Amino acid sequence: MSELNQINTSEFRLTVEQLAYSYGQKQALKGISFQIEAGKFCALLGPNGAGKSTLFSLLTRLLIPPQGKINLAGYNLEKNPRKALSKLGVVFQQPTLDLDLTVLQNLKYFASLHGLHGKTARLAIEEALERLNMLERAKEKVRALNGGHRRRMEIARALIHKPQVLLLDEPTVGLDAASRKAITDHVHDLAARDSLTVLWATHLVDEVWSDDRLIILHQGEIIRDGICSDVTGQKTLAATFQTLTQSEAA
Ligand code: ADP
Ligand code: MG
Repeated sequence: MSELNQINTSEFRLTVEQLAYSYGQKQALKGISFQIEAGKFCALLGPNGAGKSTLFSLLTRLLIPPQGKINLAGYNLEKNPRKALSKLGVVFQQPTLDLDLTVLQNLKYFASLHGLHGKTARLAIEEALERLNMLERAKEKVRALNGGHRRRMEIARALIHKPQVLLLDEPTVGLDAASRKAITDHVHDLAARDSLTVLWATHLVDEVWSDDRLIILHQGEIIRDGICSDVTGQKTLAATFQTLTQSEAA
């Protein structure tokens, strides 16, 4: 499929083609393909073990795929990893904050990893915190923040270098219902307002809006891909998801 080399990159920000990965005998991803446009919130919905985190490890180059292609914001990840990764922001499943540093100190360190210093770093950090309604917490130690605010801070951190694609791996796990909803709503808004391409991995159906792009991943395969309301038809997403992941698990 060589035509994927000539894709209109202003249209697709994230392109995955025939991506596969195995841990020994265990096939975690079985050759998946999808494309996401700019400004779209795409939910990657799958039960535990579906392959969501494996996909994120491949997109961030923590794992190298034996097969398949990844294109990030117009850059082939294998051929041009530095450029491709500079367009990517990531919030991993496990929190990665230093609890004894302040919000600002954590973000400054991360900004410097991206080559941002001095006033440029300060402005980028302020802008990112502002976007997540976290500016007033800048001087607090992370340890003093509740789970929802820690997660928001990690999202702010992922936005400092102004990525075009934002990956979030089960970002609301462990949060109370109100924080979960606030963060889910906020990231939906970010996608629309800032033309950010968001890939949001979850196993929770209530985080998916009916007009979201929805990819259902199950046992390493994409079993549905479309606008959520088209995928579900007359049924709820909860019922659709349960039927699909039960019957096709056999
Ligand atoms: P998800 O994030 O959707 O829960 P994962 O990508 O973590 O799924 O896992 C996909 C499959 O790969 C699961 O069957 C899991 O047990 C397996 N797996 C994940 N990581 C490893 C690993 N390091 N070694 C062996 N198997 C793994
Ligand atoms: Mg996972």
